[in-house]
Amino acid sequence: SNSSAPIVIIGSGLAGYNLAKELRKLAADQPLLMITGDDGRSYSKPMLSTGYGKNKTADELAMNTAAGMAEQLNMTIRTNTVVTAIDIDAHTISLGDETVEYSKLVLAWGAEAVGPRIEGGAEDRVFSINDLEDYAKFRSAAEGKKRVLIMGAGLIGCEFANDMTAGGYECEIVAPCDQVFPTLLPESAANAVQAGLEGIGVKFHLGPLVSRIERDGDGVVATLDNGDEIRADVVVSAIGLRPRTQLAGDAGIKVNHGIVADRHLKTSADDVYTLGDCAEVEGRVLLYVLPLMASARALAKTLTGTPTEVSYGVMPVTVKTPACPVVVSPPPGGDASGRWIVEQEGNDVQAEYRNEAGDLLGYALTGAKVANKVALNKELPAIMP
Ligand code: FAD
Repeated sequence: SNSSAPIVIIGSGLAGYNLAKELRKLAADQPLLMITGDDGRSYSKPMLSTGYGKNKTADELAMNTAAGMAEQLNMTIRTNTVVTAIDIDAHTISLGDETVEYSKLVLAWGAEAVGPRIEGGAEDRVFSINDLEDYAKFRSAAEGKKRVLIMGAGLIGCEFANDMTAGGYECEIVAPCDQVFPTLLPESAANAVQAGLEGIGVKFHLGPLVSRIERDGDGVVATLDNGDEIRADVVVSAIGLRPRTQLAGDAGIKVNHGIVADRHLKTSADDVYTLGDCAEVEGRVLLYVLPLMASARALAKTLTGTPTEVSYGVMPVTVKTPACPVVVSPPPGGDASGRWIVEQEGNDVQAEYRNEAGDLLGYALTGAKVANKVALNKELPAIMP
């Protein structure tokens, strides 16, 4: 490897910037180069689904420009620059025709929104909101409009429904599942969230798929596979996120659901590391902020000469649906040995996932029960000690 070449970080999301901040605390003079496909503004992505309730434009959500971050962190940032290939033997990356050397490379390029495959020719009225630029485009498309069709009843779909309702929109959710948050919440908690959202006016169509979206005046008409039709002004697609793995796979780096990394956040290639939404750390793909913060701290040490394993403590997810607050710590996947024990008063649900010995492995709390998270967190085992 070429040790005079910079550490190169690909991606200017929370993973890339948090790593750069942690690196600067440990190594003031280490040459750092960040390359990002977007405009490099620093922002907190979770705020994208609270922007209507708080009435914030994309510009207002941006905390700093790329130039401001470059100065603050004493690093070079190349914006609107897409990495097109990695050569793990030569220790270089390609930016189209240009080649850039790295001493160490960090893949922090996130996850992409799964695009809906929908017929009907109204694709330009269907929006995924996965970064600041998407949010800006969507806000201008939704300006002065009223009816929003949201595809997907997961965390992001439900948060947008709550947020846009708070911003004065009429929201309808369509999703091909029996309940909201199909992979995250037990039925009792999911029903409480659905009831909370219905209470503020959100309409649900759970079960059917959207099969066609056609233009209808300035808006759209969506046809569901049960024959129902929904008229809306704009459509939000929130059907899922997929870690970006293609370029890494093409380069011969091991990928699975995400880019495969060990607890040092090292990939299968020498001097190539990964963190954030694109990473699969010891089998875990966690599309949340807390894991990437823990990863950034550990990786900064590793990259500056102190090999450090990342550990994940207890990391409950707070869902931003004020119509029915939710905090959930999902039980580890594939653990069939436990069961949900549910206590419920109206929309206040306390669901505890316990194994046969009675150990708490996960929980879901809604409504007033979210206050009990502190006590339950103390009882939970760390996700990756
Ligand atoms: P990203 O922020 O996606 O950054 C990826 C970067 O890589 C971008 O700069 C992109 O331009 C760049 N890039 C990609 N490909 C290339 C390429 N080939 N060349 C150059 N650059 C490239 N998590 C929580 O914990 N709590 C929440 O409440 C929460 N709410 C959320 C709400 C919404 C609406 C969304 C979408 C997510 C939410 N999340 C939440 C998840 C959280 O925001 C993400 O886990 C986190 O922001 C991921 O950061 P990242 O840096 O890994 O990826």
